[in-house]
Amino acid sequence: MGEAQGVIGRLVEELTKLPGIGPKSAERIAHFLLNDDRKDAASLAQALTAVSEQVRPCTECFNWTDRDLCPVCADPRRDPATICVVETPRDVSIFERAGNYRGRYHVLGGRLAPLDNVGPDRLAFDALKKRVETGGIREVILATSPTMEGDGTALFAANMLAGTGVTVTRLARGLPSGSSLELANAQMLADALDGRRTF
Ligand SMILES: [Zn+2]
Repeated sequence: MGEAQGVIGRLVEELTKLPGIGPKSAERIAHFLLNDDRKDAASLAQALTAVSEQVRPCTECFNWTDRDLCPVCADPRRDPATICVVETPRDVSIFERAGNYRGRYHVLGGRLAPLDNVGPDRLAFDALKKRVETGGIREVILATSPTMEGDGTALFAANMLAGTGVTVTRLARGLPSGSSLELANAQMLADALDGRRTF
């Protein structure tokens, strides 16, 4: 790519960093954005600036939000007595898209991975315990991924919450094992939620 293509080259390079976008797709997207009046390019740039500047963790559940509380925590119709514990804000989106969960969430920020030095102090366990101890919570659903690390993370949370009096459940098996929740479709997720068992 020559000097004249400097900024285009940079765009292609940035696009290639995105998940699922190889060099060919990146080039195709770059040239699509250069078409016509560039309204798409401008509004994409604005959207990217807005998320990078305004999105932060919800003060209650650590889901992404551009306010103090995320839309789920701010919704009075959502059951505050049920908390679904997930690894990432993306998992919240997956549950919300499935559409049958009416409680609130708690985003841990990952899963325990001793080999990668991700210990309990790196995840939002303390905040979860505080939420439960504050009261008003009846059930905590552990919806960490169906992987060894996800299971270990759920076990740690269950032990931590033992004795608090809250019911701790785990999503039913049947989700694609060894992967994140993203591979589950809406029906599988609904079934896993309906079939949850006490830990
Ligand atoms: Zn929230």
